[in-house]
Amino acid sequence: MRRKLVVANRKMNGSIPENKVFLKELIAGTEDFSNADFVVCFPHPYLGQAQDILTGTPIAWGGQNMSRYDHGPYTGSVSAKMLVEFGCQYVIIGHSERRGRGHDSDSSVGERFQVAVKAGLKPIFCMGETLEEFEQGLTDLVTIRQLNSLIQQVGIKSLTQGILAYEPVWAIGTGKAASPEHAQSILHFLRGYLILKDPEVGKHISILYGGSLNRGNAVDILSMPDIDGGLVGTASLNTEEFIEICQAANAFMVCDV
Ligand code: PEP
Repeated sequence: MRRKLVVANRKMNGSIPENKVFLKELIAGTEDFSNADFVVCFPHPYLGQAQDILTGTPIAWGGQNMSRYDHGPYTGSVSAKMLVEFGCQYVIIGHSERRGRGHDSDSSVGERFQVAVKAGLKPIFCMGETLEEFEQGLTDLVTIRQLNSLIQQVGIKSLTQGILAYEPVWAIGTGKAASPEHAQSILHFLRGYLILKDPEVGKHISILYGGSLNRGNAVDILSMPDIDGGLVGTASLNTEEFIEICQAANAFMVCDV
Protein backbone atom coordinates (compact mmCIF):
# COMPACT_ATOMS: atom_id res chain seq x y z
CA MET A 1 0.00 0.00 0.00
CA ARG A 2 1.45 3.37 -1.02
CA ARG A 3 0.19 6.44 0.81
CA LYS A 4 0.81 9.96 -0.42
CA LEU A 5 3.66 11.65 1.39
CA VAL A 6 4.50 15.36 1.47
CA VAL A 7 7.96 16.38 2.66
CA ALA A 8 8.89 19.98 3.41
CA ASN A 9 12.49 20.79 2.66
CA ARG A 10 12.93 24.02 4.61
CA LYS A 11 16.54 24.35 3.38
CA MET A 12 18.52 27.06 5.23
CA ASN A 13 15.48 29.02 6.35
CA GLY A 14 13.59 29.69 9.54
CA SER A 15 14.30 30.82 13.06
CA ILE A 16 13.16 29.53 16.43
CA PRO A 17 10.13 31.89 16.61
CA GLU A 18 9.21 31.35 12.94
CA ASN A 19 9.49 27.56 13.20
CA LYS A 20 7.26 27.57 16.25
CA VAL A 21 4.47 29.42 14.43
CA PHE A 22 4.92 27.26 11.32
CA LEU A 23 4.71 23.99 13.24
CA LYS A 24 1.76 25.01 15.40
CA GLU A 25 -0.16 26.09 12.29
CA LEU A 26 0.85 22.96 10.41
CA ILE A 27 -0.30 20.68 13.22
CA ALA A 28 -3.67 22.46 13.37
CA GLY A 29 -4.01 22.73 9.58
CA THR A 30 -3.37 19.05 8.87
CA GLU A 31 -5.18 17.46 11.81
CA ASP A 32 -8.00 16.16 9.61
CA PHE A 33 -5.74 14.89 6.83
CA SER A 34 -5.41 11.25 7.79
CA ASN A 35 -5.05 9.83 4.25
CA ALA A 36 -1.53 11.16 3.74
CA ASP A 37 1.73 11.47 5.67
CA PHE A 38 3.69 14.64 6.32
CA VAL A 39 7.34 15.27 7.13
CA VAL A 40 9.33 18.45 7.76
CA CYS A 41 13.08 18.46 7.12
CA PHE A 42 14.77 21.21 9.12
CA PRO A 43 18.26 22.65 9.30
CA HIS A 44 20.07 20.61 11.95
CA PRO A 45 20.08 23.23 14.74
CA TYR A 46 16.27 23.20 14.77
CA LEU A 47 15.79 19.45 15.13
CA GLY A 48 15.54 19.68 18.92
CA GLN A 49 12.76 22.23 18.52
CA ALA A 50 11.01 19.99 15.99
CA GLN A 51 11.26 17.11 18.44
CA ASP A 52 9.79 19.20 21.27
CA ILE A 53 6.84 20.41 19.22
CA LEU A 54 6.08 17.44 16.97
CA THR A 55 6.46 14.55 19.41
CA GLY A 56 3.04 12.94 19.83
CA THR A 57 1.68 14.43 16.58
CA PRO A 58 1.32 12.54 13.26
CA ILE A 59 3.90 14.83 11.62
CA ALA A 60 7.40 13.40 11.33
CA TRP A 61 10.65 15.32 10.94
CA GLY A 62 14.06 14.79 9.46
CA GLY A 63 17.45 16.19 8.50
CA GLN A 64 18.50 17.58 5.14
CA ASN A 65 21.76 15.69 4.90
CA MET A 66 24.05 13.49 6.98
CA SER A 67 27.57 12.17 6.99
CA ARG A 68 28.39 8.71 5.70
CA TYR A 69 30.66 8.27 8.72
CA ASP A 70 29.60 7.26 12.22
CA HIS A 71 31.85 9.70 14.08
CA GLY A 72 35.26 11.28 13.84
CA PRO A 73 37.15 14.32 12.62
CA TYR A 74 34.53 15.63 10.15
CA THR A 75 34.08 19.23 11.16
CA GLY A 76 30.60 20.54 10.48
CA SER A 77 29.10 17.13 9.74
CA VAL A 78 26.26 15.33 11.47
CA SER A 79 25.92 11.56 11.82
CA ALA A 80 22.83 9.38 11.29
CA LYS A 81 22.94 8.45 14.97
CA MET A 82 22.75 12.12 15.94
CA LEU A 83 19.68 12.60 13.76
CA VAL A 84 18.06 9.60 15.43
CA GLU A 85 18.85 11.08 18.86
CA PHE A 86 16.74 14.07 17.86
CA GLY A 87 13.84 11.84 16.89
CA CYS A 88 14.31 12.09 13.12
CA GLN A 89 12.69 9.38 11.04
CA TYR A 90 13.82 10.75 7.67
CA VAL A 91 16.86 12.29 6.03
CA ILE A 92 17.22 13.83 2.58
CA ILE A 93 20.27 12.55 0.72
CA GLY A 94 21.75 13.44 -2.66
CA HIS A 95 19.86 16.70 -3.06
CA SER A 96 21.00 18.50 -6.22
CA GLU A 97 21.99 21.53 -4.15
CA ARG A 98 24.61 19.28 -2.58
CA ARG A 99 25.46 17.12 -5.59
CA GLY A 100 25.88 20.25 -7.72
CA ARG A 101 28.32 21.80 -5.29
CA GLY A 102 30.47 18.71 -5.38
CA HIS A 103 29.66 17.58 -1.84
CA ASP A 104 27.85 14.40 -2.87
CA SER A 105 28.79 11.93 -5.60
CA ASP A 106 26.69 8.98 -6.77
CA SER A 107 28.80 6.65 -4.64
CA SER A 108 28.84 8.76 -1.49
CA VAL A 109 25.05 9.13 -1.70
CA GLY A 110 24.78 5.33 -1.85
CA GLU A 111 26.96 5.07 1.25
CA ARG A 112 24.73 7.59 3.04
CA PHE A 113 21.65 5.55 2.08
CA GLN A 114 23.12 2.44 3.66
CA VAL A 115 24.27 4.21 6.81
CA ALA A 116 20.89 5.93 7.22
CA VAL A 117 18.95 2.67 6.90
CA LYS A 118 21.28 0.94 9.36
CA ALA A 119 20.63 3.71 11.87
CA GLY A 120 16.86 3.32 11.47
CA LEU A 121 16.27 6.38 9.27
CA LYS A 122 14.32 6.47 6.02
CA PRO A 123 16.57 8.14 3.45
CA ILE A 124 14.87 10.28 0.80
CA PHE A 125 17.11 9.70 -2.21
CA CYS A 126 17.02 12.60 -4.70
CA MET A 127 17.80 12.21 -8.38
CA GLY A 128 17.20 14.30 -11.45
CA GLU A 129 18.72 15.83 -14.54
CA THR A 130 20.10 19.32 -15.14
CA LEU A 131 18.54 21.70 -17.66
CA GLU A 132 21.26 20.89 -20.18
CA GLU A 133 20.65 17.16 -19.80
CA PHE A 134 16.88 17.71 -20.06
CA GLU A 135 17.31 19.69 -23.27
CA GLN A 136 19.48 16.93 -24.68
CA GLY A 137 16.79 14.36 -23.92
CA LEU A 138 18.98 12.64 -21.31
CA THR A 139 16.49 12.51 -18.43
CA ASP A 140 16.03 8.73 -18.57
CA LEU A 141 19.73 8.09 -18.85
CA VAL A 142 20.71 10.37 -15.96
CA THR A 143 18.05 9.17 -13.55
CA ILE A 144 18.78 5.52 -14.35
CA ARG A 145 22.50 6.13 -13.82
CA GLN A 146 21.80 7.62 -10.42
CA LEU A 147 19.35 4.86 -9.53
CA ASN A 148 21.63 2.07 -10.75
CA SER A 149 24.50 3.42 -8.75
CA LEU A 150 22.31 3.21 -5.65
CA ILE A 151 21.08 -0.30 -6.51
CA GLN A 152 24.65 -1.51 -7.07
CA GLN A 153 25.66 -0.27 -3.65
CA VAL A 154 22.69 -1.16 -1.49
CA GLY A 155 20.95 -3.95 -3.44
CA ILE A 156 17.50 -3.72 -4.99
CA LYS A 157 15.66 -5.09 -1.94
CA SER A 158 16.96 -2.30 0.31
CA LEU A 159 15.35 0.39 -1.81
CA THR A 160 12.00 0.04 -0.08
CA GLN A 161 13.68 1.02 3.18
CA GLY A 162 13.92 4.49 1.73
CA ILE A 163 11.97 6.85 -0.51
CA LEU A 164 12.92 7.97 -4.03
CA ALA A 165 12.42 11.53 -5.21
CA TYR A 166 12.61 12.63 -8.83
CA GLU A 167 13.68 16.26 -8.72
CA PRO A 168 14.60 17.78 -12.09
CA VAL A 169 17.30 20.32 -11.27
CA TRP A 170 15.80 22.84 -13.69
CA ALA A 171 12.57 22.83 -11.71
CA ILE A 172 14.07 23.32 -8.26
CA GLY A 173 13.51 26.80 -6.91
CA THR A 174 12.82 28.18 -10.39
CA GLY A 175 9.04 28.40 -10.26
CA LYS A 176 8.97 26.21 -13.40
CA ALA A 177 7.64 22.83 -12.31
CA ALA A 178 7.67 19.85 -14.62
CA SER A 179 4.29 19.36 -16.23
CA PRO A 180 2.18 16.71 -14.49
CA GLU A 181 2.48 14.59 -17.65
CA HIS A 182 6.27 14.84 -17.74
CA ALA A 183 6.61 14.05 -14.04
CA GLN A 184 4.20 11.12 -14.39
CA SER A 185 6.01 9.76 -17.43
CA ILE A 186 9.41 9.79 -15.69
CA LEU A 187 8.07 8.23 -12.51
CA HIS A 188 6.22 5.62 -14.56
CA PHE A 189 9.44 4.87 -16.41
CA LEU A 190 11.45 4.60 -13.17
CA ARG A 191 8.82 2.40 -11.55
CA GLY A 192 8.65 0.22 -14.66
CA TYR A 193 12.42 -0.17 -14.58
CA LEU A 194 12.30 -1.25 -10.94
CA ILE A 195 9.40 -3.64 -11.61
CA LEU A 196 11.52 -5.36 -14.25
CA LYS A 197 14.30 -5.79 -11.71
CA ASP A 198 12.06 -6.76 -8.81
CA PRO A 199 8.25 -6.57 -9.13
CA GLU A 200 7.66 -6.27 -5.38
CA VAL A 201 10.11 -3.41 -4.99
CA GLY A 202 8.80 -1.60 -8.08
CA LYS A 203 5.20 -1.83 -6.93
CA HIS A 204 5.82 -0.84 -3.33
CA ILE A 205 8.51 1.81 -3.54
CA SER A 206 7.38 5.32 -2.84
CA ILE A 207 8.50 7.84 -5.48
CA LEU A 208 8.00 11.56 -4.93
CA TYR A 209 8.15 14.47 -7.34
CA GLY A 210 9.99 17.66 -6.33
CA GLY A 211 10.58 20.94 -8.13
CA SER A 212 8.43 24.08 -7.77
CA LEU A 213 5.45 22.15 -6.47
CA ASN A 214 3.00 24.78 -5.28
CA ARG A 215 -0.65 25.45 -4.50
CA GLY A 216 -1.38 25.98 -8.21
CA ASN A 217 -0.05 22.67 -9.53
CA ALA A 218 -0.30 20.34 -6.51
CA VAL A 219 -3.67 18.81 -7.40
CA ASP A 220 -2.65 18.05 -10.99
CA ILE A 221 0.75 16.65 -10.06
CA LEU A 222 -0.25 14.72 -6.95
CA SER A 223 -3.24 13.11 -8.68
CA MET A 224 -0.90 11.26 -11.05
CA PRO A 225 -0.94 7.50 -10.40
CA ASP A 226 2.83 6.94 -10.13
CA ILE A 227 3.50 10.09 -8.09
CA ASP A 228 3.37 9.15 -4.42
CA GLY A 229 3.79 12.65 -3.09
CA GLY A 230 5.99 15.69 -3.19
CA LEU A 231 9.20 17.19 -1.89
CA VAL A 232 8.45 20.86 -1.36
CA GLY A 233 11.06 23.59 -0.94
CA THR A 234 9.98 27.18 -1.53
CA ALA A 235 6.27 26.58 -0.99
CA SER A 236 6.96 25.05 2.43
CA LEU A 237 8.02 28.52 3.60
CA ASN A 238 4.45 29.72 3.20
CA THR A 239 2.48 27.79 5.81
CA GLU A 240 -0.92 28.33 4.23
CA GLU A 241 0.35 27.21 0.84
CA PHE A 242 2.12 24.20 2.30
CA ILE A 243 -1.09 23.13 4.07
CA GLU A 244 -2.94 23.41 0.74
CA ILE A 245 -0.39 21.05 -0.80
CA CYS A 246 -0.89 18.65 2.11
CA GLN A 247 -4.64 18.90 1.53
CA ALA A 248 -4.18 18.04 -2.14
CA ALA A 249 -2.17 14.94 -1.18
CA ASN A 250 -4.78 13.95 1.35
CA ALA A 251 -7.50 14.10 -1.30
CA PHE A 252 -6.14 11.21 -3.33
CA MET A 253 -6.76 7.62 -2.45
CA VAL A 254 -3.88 5.44 -1.38
CA CYS A 255 -2.56 3.23 -4.09
CA ASP A 256 -3.33 -0.33 -3.09
CA VAL A 257 -0.85 -2.58 -4.88
C1 PEP B 1 13.78 21.08 -3.25
O1 PEP B 1 14.73 21.81 -3.04
O2 PEP B 1 13.80 19.89 -2.91
C2 PEP B 1 12.61 21.65 -3.91
C3 PEP B 1 11.71 20.84 -4.38
O3 PEP B 1 12.58 23.02 -3.97
P1 PEP B 1 11.44 23.91 -4.65
O4 PEP B 1 10.11 23.38 -4.19
O5 PEP B 1 11.70 25.29 -4.17
O6 PEP B 1 11.61 23.76 -6.12
